[in-house]
Amino acid sequence: GSGDVHGEVVVLGSGPGGYSAAFRAADLGKKVVLIERYSSLGGVCLNVGCIPSKALLHAAKVVTEAEEMSEHGLNFGKPDIDGETLRKWKDSVVQQLTGGLKGLAKQRKVTVVEGYGTFTGAHSIEVETSDGKKTVTFDQCIIAAGSEPVKLPFIPHDDPRVVSSTGALELDPIPERMCVLGGGIIGFEMATVYDALGSDVTVIEMMDQILPGADKDMVKPLAKRMEGRLKAIHTKTKCTGVEAKDDGLHVTYEGPDGNSQTEVFDKLLVSVGRSPNGGKIGADKAGVAVTDRGFIEVDHQQRTNVPHIFAIGDTVGQPMLAHKAVHEGKVAAEVCAGEKRAFDARVIPSVAYTDPEVAWCGVTEAQAKEQGLKIAKGVFPWQASGRALSNARSEGMTKLIFDPEDDRVIGGAIVGTNAGELIAEVALAIEMGADAVDLGHTIHPHPTLSETVNFAAEMFEGTITDLM
Ligand code: FAD
Repeated sequence: GSGDVHGEVVVLGSGPGGYSAAFRAADLGKKVVLIERYSSLGGVCLNVGCIPSKALLHAAKVVTEAEEMSEHGLNFGKPDIDGETLRKWKDSVVQQLTGGLKGLAKQRKVTVVEGYGTFTGAHSIEVETSDGKKTVTFDQCIIAAGSEPVKLPFIPHDDPRVVSSTGALELDPIPERMCVLGGGIIGFEMATVYDALGSDVTVIEMMDQILPGADKDMVKPLAKRMEGRLKAIHTKTKCTGVEAKDDGLHVTYEGPDGNSQTEVFDKLLVSVGRSPNGGKIGADKAGVAVTDRGFIEVDHQQRTNVPHIFAIGDTVGQPMLAHKAVHEGKVAAEVCAGEKRAFDARVIPSVAYTDPEVAWCGVTEAQAKEQGLKIAKGVFPWQASGRALSNARSEGMTKLIFDPEDDRVIGGAIVGTNAGELIAEVALAIEMGADAVDLGHTIHPHPTLSETVNFAAEMFEGTITDLM
């Protein structure tokens, strides 16, 4: 029909996976079409994920560090929080980035088609645009449809007081009594924000620790600081019901002792996980296999069971992280352009941008134990870091995990301010096959938190023994 479009490479979804794939394919000379249902590019990450949450977490850190500096003679008084202005600033950060993406797409002559796309065949997608249906045909396709928040059957999700992370980022309103269901990265980041902005926050987590996936010793300093700030952190606790009433949301939960308790909240954030969008794009029409849970399985070149169709990002599996999606997007685009490329990253770092941050990559101690893997470690407590002490934030810890056979770094975890920045060095060390001597002999600037990586390596080697 009129306005139909053909792309050598068509990318479905414009999140970090999709835009990275589209731009890379265009840079490699392909004629690219990018399909996105929303007018704003950037997907979950830029619009309602990584970026807006970090803007609010920055605000939270400013507030709580100011509060805590009162112990050391610096008093600002109670913060006066103007939620409306804060929201506008957060939105402007998002707009700057999503607007930038539009410019980058234009520069590369990537055609953006706005509307919801569904496969109609092995070489075609039908897009519901604002002016009718458009057919987009392709030689090769990259599926980057992302994921969405999981909903629970016993929760009244249509009540405006019940929100997902998307609603929580709107800060509308900042409630008095806030319940966060799910103490994973997203839930605990939002708990951090709402606590700083004045809410009484209760976190309910089913597992035996917040941030399941991170080693327990690394979560402890965060849990300790936040236990002092939040109303409660209930671990090993299951939410069994939520009733929406006039006076609030009545949340019933069952603790490890089997006792049930009901508490009333003004807002409930449900952050119990995300489910992939693989089952919502008519993949079967293209012959692409989708698992029962909505994931699309791919090989090490990001290829689905249909050789000219690729998939990347949250839709293909865990970890659901933007930097994994970006890396996969580039791999898929390069393979589409005929390059010999495969996903062969050794590690994908994980970061909770809480305060303190918790970051880890490679093998964790818990995983090593599970797999019967022999490990050795070097641990450096931040009480012995001059920089951490001068930041008034010495609760951190840096841990490196080594293969005892050859002293190579195979994992690492950091809890403390800026841990997310610091973990990149550990990821590089693992990718490069660095060993303890490499990290111990690299001169790190003094006084910085980055020295704690150097010191953890020296602790392992035994070249530092007496800390204070
Ligand atoms: P998405 O970003 O989900 O993008 C998919 C896009 O495809 C969307 O724009 C969607 O509208 C579009 N789409 C889907 N189906 C169709 C269709 N049929 N037709 C047209 N368009 C379609 N990750 C990090 O690494 N760091 C963080 O700090 C971080 N913070 C987060 C905070 C929050 C609150 C949330 C919710 C997530 C966070 N994440 C973070 C996770 C990160 O956002 C995702 O891993 C990432 O966005 C996945 O990218 P993607 O390209 O796979 O898909």
